[in-house]
Amino acid sequence: MKIICVGRNYTEHIEELQNEKPEEPILFHKPDTSVLLKKQPFFIPDFSDDIHYEVEVLVKIKKIGKHIQQKFACKYYDEIGLGIDFTARDLQQKLKEKGLPWEKAKGFDGAAVIGDKWLKSKDFDSVNNLNFHLLMNDEIVQQSNTSLMLWKIDELIAYISTYFTLKIGDIIFTGTPAGVGKVSPEDRLSGFLEGKKMFSIKVK
Ligand code: ZN
Repeated sequence: MKIICVGRNYTEHIEELQNEKPEEPILFHKPDTSVLLKKQPFFIPDFSDDIHYEVEVLVKIKKIGKHIQQKFACKYYDEIGLGIDFTARDLQQKLKEKGLPWEKAKGFDGAAVIGDKWLKSKDFDSVNNLNFHLLMNDEIVQQSNTSLMLWKIDELIAYISTYFTLKIGDIIFTGTPAGVGKVSPEDRLSGFLEGKKMFSIKVK
């Protein structure tokens, strides 16, 4: 199973990090070892003093495919989830300045939270109009809607599958909206998609 992540897919998040708006989607991978194990807390790694949460809508691939046309992309998934792309922002900043890959800042152990709850895409009128938010200690820190993605889910699947064969069980992290921020020990993060609680984790 592989995890493919999309960077800079919401305008307000691009602005808050003062990044340039990309001309095409930015892709990176997280290794399978980055998945936070079920019911485990997230441990802040020693190599960073600035770990950020990034809540993201997830798409689980159910059929193998490459060069998938956008109009057929919906046949390749039927479940939508929610997760966190934990990011060592200090390390990422250093790597970005040198033009180096972000993998160390994004792919470390525990950096991929995949909520264990999944919702059926057929239960929604459109996957391009889903509300989601992240609570940190009962305060809403990120809140958005998938309609605000620069590249929508089906466009992403078409784009990604131009480069990487998608396989059953692969998961796409579709990018984070504005409001990213630092986590501290004892924080609790809970994610909601269309009002349903999708995960809840503790930071240590
Ligand atoms: Zn992200």
